[in-house]
Amino acid sequence: MTTRKHTNARHTTNIGESLTVNPVFVRPGETTELPKFEIPDGMCLPETAYQIVHDEAMLDGNARLNLATFVSTWMDKEAQDLYAETYDKNMIDKDEYPQTAAIEDRCWKIIANLWHVPDVNSAIGTSTIGSSEAAMLGGLALKRHWQTRRRAEGKSIEKPNLVLSTAVQVCWEKFLNYFEVEPHWVPVSEDHIVLDGHELEKYVDENTIGVVAIMGVTYNGLYEPVKQISEKLDEIQKNTGLDVKIHIDGASGAMVAPFCQPDLEWDFRVPRVVSINTSGHKYGLVFPGLGWIVWRDAEALPESMVFHCSYLGGDMPTLALNFSRPGAQVLLQYYNFLRLGREGYRLVQQAGIDVAMYLSSQIAEMGPFELVSEGDTIPVFAWRLKKGYTDKWNLFDLSDRLRMKGWLVPAYPMADNLGDQILQRIVVRAGLSHDLANALLHDMDSEIAFLDNLETPMPREGTGSHFHH
Ligand SMILES: *Cc1c(COP(=O)(O)O)cnc(C)c1O
Repeated sequence: MTTRKHTNARHTTNIGESLTVNPVFVRPGETTELPKFEIPDGMCLPETAYQIVHDEAMLDGNARLNLATFVSTWMDKEAQDLYAETYDKNMIDKDEYPQTAAIEDRCWKIIANLWHVPDVNSAIGTSTIGSSEAAMLGGLALKRHWQTRRRAEGKSIEKPNLVLSTAVQVCWEKFLNYFEVEPHWVPVSEDHIVLDGHELEKYVDENTIGVVAIMGVTYNGLYEPVKQISEKLDEIQKNTGLDVKIHIDGASGAMVAPFCQPDLEWDFRVPRVVSINTSGHKYGLVFPGLGWIVWRDAEALPESMVFHCSYLGGDMPTLALNFSRPGAQVLLQYYNFLRLGREGYRLVQQAGIDVAMYLSSQIAEMGPFELVSEGDTIPVFAWRLKKGYTDKWNLFDLSDRLRMKGWLVPAYPMADNLGDQILQRIVVRAGLSHDLANALLHDMDSEIAFLDNLETPMPREGTGSHFHH
């Protein structure tokens, strides 16, 4: 007699037998409730556990209709096979998995070369769990550099600050908070919708550890003009002697610009740029769990942040906030580099930009909206409701209506001092075809007609915003 608490197969004597007499959908957990916040006392069949978790995950949204996230939801069948073969690899275990470590090394060097690093042999890079971890490391290197210089000059290291746009991704607010760096926020405005160097001298001082420039602002997809920011910093250096470096948050754009805007100088071609991060799991086209950071040279990464391991016989510098983390994503990144090459990445990203620009031009013509961006940088664009178009509904209502059809098209307030401005955004990822785009446009048309024809305005409680950075 089994002593398992959660069973409806009391007459069975062993698991093998209970499998045969215990048909799917009438097993415990499927007809009875299992505890949710306490570990169950007994065991259950793997099939049953699988079915329960599988069914619950099924209630999540359909990733293909999710136009909110930047993160990859599609990879080749062969990449999925590779993933299934390598999910047990731990990235930190460079002793046991030296080949995965060697591939990590190749990947960041490939990326460093895409970003025009002057000498890849003196550059330093690493994979991370995402851009957030990479941003922490980039910010820390800036801070450490500043501290070292200030100490040598016998000056205070009490009040480091970082200059950045109010439209940065939340990872930078975490960096400032966790690592105790003061923000010097540069406000976005109608005239300066991104950080562009305007009045930068007001924000930079002797305690500034660096400036963050974003390649692909989360809110609207726009690129911050790195070269222009750098030229402004040249001017500031001429006037004040302050030599302020730039870190590029290229979470999305650093894997788009090298292929689709090759002449745009935003990377290590700009001498003030000391480090760049990107998300392998965004336009690197890898499943979630991968970021990258590269420093221009050993000088840009303070030696005190590097831990040396000799697992590979040589000198393997390691730096990261995490210890154990999956290695499979690194292999998937390498798979994509081999599979797509420069030409493949260009085709995939350009197809995204084409769909984004098609969608934005169609949405601009619908009547109620004006575009904030077009999707010609990264395949991301945003729009707002024209002033005075309607009092009956807003973009949150439209977002909710589209959600009923399965589409996730988030509406959200713009950053900080433009916070009264509501935007709606579409992130085009590999897999959003022209056909799917047309289906979305069709649904938008009918939902706008529904909202326009309302007798009374939409009730105003709850915003229904689903903003994913
Ligand atoms: C997505 C994003 C991040 C955070 O990246 P994760 O890989 O999700 O940690 C940081 N900055 C920008 C500009 C982003 O778009």
